[in-house]
Amino acid sequence: MSTKSVDRQPSASPADVSFFGASGTMRGSHSAAGTHSPTSVGGTQTVTEGAPDRVIIFDTTLRDGEQSPGASMNLGQKLQVAKALRELGVDVIEAGFAAASPGDLEAIRAVSREVEGPIVASLSRCNKGDIEASWQALKDAPRRRCHVFLATSPIHRDFKLKLAKEEIIKRSVDGVRLAREKFDDVEFSAEDSARTELEFLAEVVERAIEAGAGTVNIPDTVGYALPATYAETIRYLKKHVRGIDKVVVSVHCHNDLGLAVANSLAGVMEGARQVECTINGIGERAGNASLEEIVMAFRTRGDVLRVRTGVQTERLYPTSRLVSQVTGLHVQRNKAIVGQNAFAHEAGIHQHGMLTHRETYEIMRPEEVGFAKSQLVLGKHSGRHALKERLVALGYQLDDKAVDQVFQEFKVLADKKKDIYDADIEAIVVHGQILGQNGRAWELEALSTTSGTGTLPVASVALRNAEGEKLRDVAAGDGPVDAVYRAIEKITGIGVKLRDYQIVSVSTGEDAQGEVSIEVEHKTGVYRGRALSTDIVEGSARAFLDVVNRIALKVSPPAESEARAEMGTP
Ligand SMILES: [Zn+2]
Repeated sequence: MSTKSVDRQPSASPADVSFFGASGTMRGSHSAAGTHSPTSVGGTQTVTEGAPDRVIIFDTTLRDGEQSPGASMNLGQKLQVAKALRELGVDVIEAGFAAASPGDLEAIRAVSREVEGPIVASLSRCNKGDIEASWQALKDAPRRRCHVFLATSPIHRDFKLKLAKEEIIKRSVDGVRLAREKFDDVEFSAEDSARTELEFLAEVVERAIEAGAGTVNIPDTVGYALPATYAETIRYLKKHVRGIDKVVVSVHCHNDLGLAVANSLAGVMEGARQVECTINGIGERAGNASLEEIVMAFRTRGDVLRVRTGVQTERLYPTSRLVSQVTGLHVQRNKAIVGQNAFAHEAGIHQHGMLTHRETYEIMRPEEVGFAKSQLVLGKHSGRHALKERLVALGYQLDDKAVDQVFQEFKVLADKKKDIYDADIEAIVVHGQILGQNGRAWELEALSTTSGTGTLPVASVALRNAEGEKLRDVAAGDGPVDAVYRAIEKITGIGVKLRDYQIVSVSTGEDAQGEVSIEVEHKTGVYRGRALSTDIVEGSARAFLDVVNRIALKVSPPAESEARAEMGTP
């Protein structure tokens, strides 16, 4: 068996600081759970730079996370998230699946050109076309990785791929070799590892390492594993795969049973040293392992887990907010680490305990994760500099032109509203199309509704199309919003089924703005739209137009998602 070393770039994060320095709970040369041996080999396998306790954080928010239904981001939004991830200190950014669509390829290329520091990765199937697409996307990246995958489980072999075991091995080896012709850094994923026979999995992984993979990923693609079974898989591989101590073993867990984080930690305790995860745990179906939970578990329970990362934990909360804003996927209030209630102590008995001694009920401090304490920030007389500082604190990395644009809208809002809260600023950035145009095929020109007890709600709507033509129509509905939606459908000819409709107040006070988020089903797919207004009917109309414009301009082209669904991903 080859012991070929893998020439990879060191992966020290820009923020490679002593993780446990502050709490002083642990440091040292322990390996996890006694099964792991140091990975440094002749100075080439230097991902952990001789530190066996360093876990590589591989963020896949822009790839797996973006596969959440309706979570597609435009180029500007992806770049913003990538920049925030760099500030957060992740080691690897998986920026997309280059072969999935031209839009993916373009986004990966933009990230690799504009976001320096982390390794930028692109997903590829084990074929020439995909690997070439990844190369086209990544060739300008100072640090790049090709992530190839092939499914190994019996169910995928028999029903999706219709390939025998020998063929799976051959394709995996060929894929890794092909990728190594262009890339020094190649990761191999055995899709659906958690449902693959251990012996066969070990064989595939061994052959992938032999072919030149520097990272071997063991995904629980469908979220089927339990911590004990997943730990057993990693332990088995560590014991039976030749050459495995010369590469990085990676975990990638899905949350279908709510166990993605638990399974990932179980893998790390068996010696895995890369965790693939997403901000807020977004991803296919129930999502991926949540980055913030993984990182804070390492930090808070370093006494047991004995590993560290390069993540600046105080950037966790702002990054979570940013991802929530740009994807439109709200974070549940009771979400660990970044939910609104994560650090709230309502019960009197808790509050009493807290006042006496914080640690009575608090295992982490809100400041550690950058939880914004004070919400009231700016007002009419705040200057551009103060606004810019606040934008940075909220996770946005904007150029001067974009800051000017935000500042202008901020001034307009400050004339209408006394206090400007963080949420107002975020709303300006996200809704003001600061992060790139979603495009506008239709614009709202005028709107009026009549409703009341005993009357039929009617709406009259006027829209302007891209050619500047003004079109008007009237419709009745079950309520004023329904009537508005029917009128817009009549004018645009785009018919949809409303799946979800939510209004949340994004700030407090009588002049608070309401954010309307909707999710609709169109024959070409699921779309989400949002808008902000102090008037809920108007906000509802604008959110609906946001969706109509996405459909009209094919911002989430259905062909892309269908192709992706056919391919399947780890
Ligand atoms: Zn996945």
